[in-house]
Amino acid sequence: MRYQFMRWPEGRSKALTLSYDDGAAADKRLAETLNRYGIKCTFNLLSSRVEMEEGLTKEFIHSEILGKGHEIATHGAYHRGLDVARPIEGIRDTLDCRLGLEKAFGIIVRGMAFPDRTVNKAKVPEAYARIRPFLEELEIAYARTTGGDNDSFGLPEDFLNWVPTAHHKNPKLMEYIDSFLNLDLSAGKCYCAARGARLFYLWGHAFEFENNKNWDLLERICERFAGREDIYYATNMEIYEYVTAYRSLIHSADNAIVYNPTLKTLWFDRDGKEYKIAPGETLHI
Ligand SMILES: [Zn+2]
Repeated sequence: MRYQFMRWPEGRSKALTLSYDDGAAADKRLAETLNRYGIKCTFNLLSSRVEMEEGLTKEFIHSEILGKGHEIATHGAYHRGLDVARPIEGIRDTLDCRLGLEKAFGIIVRGMAFPDRTVNKAKVPEAYARIRPFLEELEIAYARTTGGDNDSFGLPEDFLNWVPTAHHKNPKLMEYIDSFLNLDLSAGKCYCAARGARLFYLWGHAFEFENNKNWDLLERICERFAGREDIYYATNMEIYEYVTAYRSLIHSADNAIVYNPTLKTLWFDRDGKEYKIAPGETLHI
């Protein structure tokens, strides 16, 4: 019996991604702090607020956010709660945000965090079923939910219902970070059900550190996570693109042949042995 598990780039077993909302002035300090530690984040911005927040200028976003490998994503032009807006209003708020950010920064913007209100397949299934089709039509690649943490290190099946691991105010945050850092996915050390690649997905708002006067919490979080060889530090879109590419691998019926039809080099673990497969390559295992 063969078991195969995705590994992150360079064969790493864990990944860390952050998602911070609203594009407020405090995002500047958040970006500067993360840059000191080499940790990557997705900044979910409102197109209507670009150039409206002190210090968070287009120049700063270009040089210290995009230029340092972070991502910007949509959060609604006017932060409309999609569960209460009519679909046509939600479509407009999402599309206007995409168009505005893409024009302001000259890049493709396909990521999203749901604005304002709880949108989450488990908590508001009817609203989610109404919203999801138009996000697909608007070519949104992934959407981070609001209204609860998943308290786990798993990957989403549905990237338009991407429930994060924990908000930075989650009372068990430090406990989660420690158990994540202590995980050892080496073959033989855990059951096959526990050998899959892991993701720690942290979210929040930078202005919460400012309002609660607890920027030291961010420093403590970064100190624990930073500089680990077994962690892939990535934006939400980098996670989405890597996982989607991995899920596109083509296998023979008996799993002995693996073909990589994507443009990404991919890693996986097969029965405790690490494999790397280049774009267009076919492996006989
Ligand atoms: Zn928001």
